[in-house]
Amino acid sequence: MLRELELAEVAALYAPATTATRVVEAPSSTASVVEAPSSADSDVASLSWSQLREAVRDCRACGLCKARKQAVFGVGAERGPWLFVGEGPGADEDEQGEPFVGQAGKLLDGMLTAAGLARGRDVYIANVVKCRPPGNRTPAPDEAAACAAFLDRQIDLIAPKVIVALGKTAATRLLGAEPGSLGAMRGKVHRYRGTPLVVTYHPAYLLRTLVDKAKAWEDLLFAKRVLATPESP
Ligand code: URA
Repeated sequence: MLRELELAEVAALYAPATTATRVVEAPSSTASVVEAPSSADSDVASLSWSQLREAVRDCRACGLCKARKQAVFGVGAERGPWLFVGEGPGADEDEQGEPFVGQAGKLLDGMLTAAGLARGRDVYIANVVKCRPPGNRTPAPDEAAACAAFLDRQIDLIAPKVIVALGKTAATRLLGAEPGSLGAMRGKVHRYRGTPLVVTYHPAYLLRTLVDKAKAWEDLLFAKRVLATPESP
């Protein structure tokens, strides 16, 4: 499978880099898209996994609920240590009820495998919005805001050691207002409420831009080093 995904070659290219950790602290940011939490948001902040799952399933807080087949909650290791955050479900995910099960998901799984990780065992995968934006468009800021409390609660419950933001929508949602180009966000340790956060390309972009796969692999190895680096108290 790795050979099919051309990741073994990329892995070989970057293998020596695993010994050197380059942790560049970016200005920390705790801002989220929702500036003032509503009372509904503070209710969400106390939900258990099963209550949260139900709340997402029944949510009608934005227009995305109208065309969805189902809300796509998230999947994987509910205590981390890894959390990957994508943008929103596509057609396959809307159909199957699980994030990243289409072509982009196959690429993501291939990269996880090459890095010695697996969804379910070490990794939780969630999205900024839980319902499919029609035509797979980018979620609008008000849609991301309507879903923010759900993702925030997932992150609280998982308590990941490292978060990987897949693409600009996830990075913007988790780091606050327009944090700059994706290229400028790569290779730095950002923070989401104190948790280290690394930014990389969205797998759907990588499917269209094969040349950047090597950079995404570099980002994954960087995130591994961040996870392995003990934090000063
Ligand atoms: N793209 C995403 O951002 N999330 C998915 O779940 C699938 C594709």
